[in-house]
Amino acid sequence: MNASEKWNLQGIGMTSQRTRNRMVDRLKEQGIENEELLTLMARMPRHIFLDEALSHRAYEDISLPIGYQQTLSQPWVVARMTELLLTLPERPKKVLEIGTGSGYQTAILASLFDQVISLERIAGFQPKAKERFQALTLNNIQLHHADGYQGWDEKAPYDAIVVTAAPESVPPQLLEQLAEGGIMVVPVGSGEEQWLTRVCRSESGHQSEVLESVHFVPLQPGLV
Ligand code: SAH
Repeated sequence: MNASEKWNLQGIGMTSQRTRNRMVDRLKEQGIENEELLTLMARMPRHIFLDEALSHRAYEDISLPIGYQQTLSQPWVVARMTELLLTLPERPKKVLEIGTGSGYQTAILASLFDQVISLERIAGFQPKAKERFQALTLNNIQLHHADGYQGWDEKAPYDAIVVTAAPESVPPQLLEQLAEGGIMVVPVGSGEEQWLTRVCRSESGHQSEVLESVHFVPLQPGLV
């Protein structure tokens, strides 16, 4: 069996191309404009990032459970965060992601940017995510079992940092590891009060801008 058959990459019924196209139509209605990103999301088999029992719901505009009390972010949130990275005058090359989870956001990033380093505190997520990247022949991803509060100093600075779980305030190590001219997208806050925040680093320091209200699982310290 080849990877495409094993993973049902193309999908059928509720996971088919038609369903993906409908998701993309909704993303456009919700204000996502970048054509390259929309084309990519129409192609990316989101259903393989979920357990089989849930895969038929993959293209609904909701977040979905992936185990360990974590969630795969809703399509709009993934699109919005990624689109913000595409607004820079120069396309980021090296991207740090905090919170690999299912690997869906990682796969989107790896399809657009040269190099993606993704950190995850729950080791149990990594084998599945790796298999999915292999099935999609994405070879530019490095996964590390590490605490995202610390970032990943070894490969810093990063042109872009994407945080897919919410800290109460932006971790200082991540600010330090952001390159000059770089962008960080991070949900900041706790409980029901979270705001998607864009931090840009220039010669003169960091500038933060609060965007939409969002709902992410909390960024948690320590490894599991
Ligand atoms: N982006 C992923 C997962 C979103 S859920 C997806 O769409 O599937 C948030 C993820 O962040 C979870 O996998 C959680 O374990 C991880 N996480 C939470 N705190 C973390 C930390 N301090 N360091 C690294 N990962 C963390």
